[in-house]
Amino acid sequence: MASDNKKAKCSFCGRDNSQVKVMIAGTTGHICDACADAANNIARQEDSSKKGNYAALKLVKPTEIKEKLDEYVIGQDRAKRLLSVAVYNHYKRLNQSKIISDDDVEIEKSNIILVGETGTGKTLLAKTIARMLNVPFAIADATVLTEAGYVGEDVESILSRLLQAADFDEKAAERGIVFIDEIDKIARKSDNPSITRDVSGEGVQQALLKLLEGSVVGVPPQGGRKHPEQKLIQINTKNILFVAGGAFDGIERKISNRLNTASVGYSASANSDEYDKENFLQYVTPQDLKSFGLIPELVGRFPSVTNLDKLDAIALKRILLEPKNAIIKQYVKLFALDGIALSFDKYVLDFIVEKAMENKLGARGLRGICEVILTDLMYNLPSQKGVKEYKVTLEYAQEQFNIGGLKTMQLA
Ligand code: ADP
Repeated sequence: MASDNKKAKCSFCGRDNSQVKVMIAGTTGHICDACADAANNIARQEDSSKKGNYAALKLVKPTEIKEKLDEYVIGQDRAKRLLSVAVYNHYKRLNQSKIISDDDVEIEKSNIILVGETGTGKTLLAKTIARMLNVPFAIADATVLTEAGYVGEDVESILSRLLQAADFDEKAAERGIVFIDEIDKIARKSDNPSITRDVSGEGVQQALLKLLEGSVVGVPPQGGRKHPEQKLIQINTKNILFVAGGAFDGIERKISNRLNTASVGYSASANSDEYDKENFLQYVTPQDLKSFGLIPELVGRFPSVTNLDKLDAIALKRILLEPKNAIIKQYVKLFALDGIALSFDKYVLDFIVEKAMENKLGARGLRGICEVILTDLMYNLPSQKGVKEYKVTLEYAQEQFNIGGLKTMQLA
């Protein structure tokens, strides 16, 4: 809003209307065009130096990364250690690229695949890592990706997300970390004769290859499909760390077959009895991912493979209570906000765990069961005067669960 008050003076440089081209009036003062320009430049410089924060990478030691993960994720030590080392090395590699090295040793990145049943903490691990990092981080879902030309998203949309996470700072995005969820869902399905064109399988794997290993990729800034008139941003993926996760349903059979075959082969030193048959997943190798339907080139670009363990009743109970934002802590806080001290009879927690084990959704089922048990209380207690505390008994929990269970059956 240009001011036509002849006496107006710029609140920054003091010049009056006659000395400047444009004077803009604010609620309590004025600014001239020259000062507005200068302010704009300062703001821009400030912003880009903030973006440059990614340059100042503080090395967090793997043991410290794992300790942080322990605060939020129960168990899964093997995966935590591998991720901690991978992230640490990622940072070292990024720092190294800035140091002029006099040898020719270039540290290459080591992308990771996490294999584990649904609800065991794959995404939680990735998210927790993201929270403690000062590099951009994005989660992408492999199931929405299709080969170019088909309905769905181009693989480049993964990088669009990273770019968005980096506030459209390409340099920052080029050193980020991407978690690709449900990578198992793009396994080759060519064993299935009814599929003539494997749109969402092998084609997508092929398309992913170029992202996974250092190449410059044209990325549509807003994601979705590329179209000719859209301006693309060029991103070099050489220093982007990829972590992929998947349940790989049925892979245990492939692992056990491989181990049993190996143990009768001439090279076998181990007897098949030596394997822990309850948890074949811990022996997963890149070879098993290939038998599952990932193409060798893709597997080759994920040098680190590890598994997440099934969550037993003890782990599920710990998940209810121990993490920094444990589910029970969240409900206690919700009630506390209404001035009600919520507590649970100890058998209630065992009951919740038992039901979660039955529905086989890992820790994912815990919250749903808690909701079924607590919804009535969350509805009624806030409007009941004088209630200062409430203890959930086993009897109440069972009753609510049965009603909730019936409701779900009626809906189905
Ligand atoms: P996945 O990606 O393996 O399918 P998620 O990481 O999305 O599973 O887990 C679903 C929910 O279950 C998370 O939000 C988290 O609250 C809980 N959860 C799963 N595994 C763990 C774990 N190991 N420790 C703590 N919470 C967990």
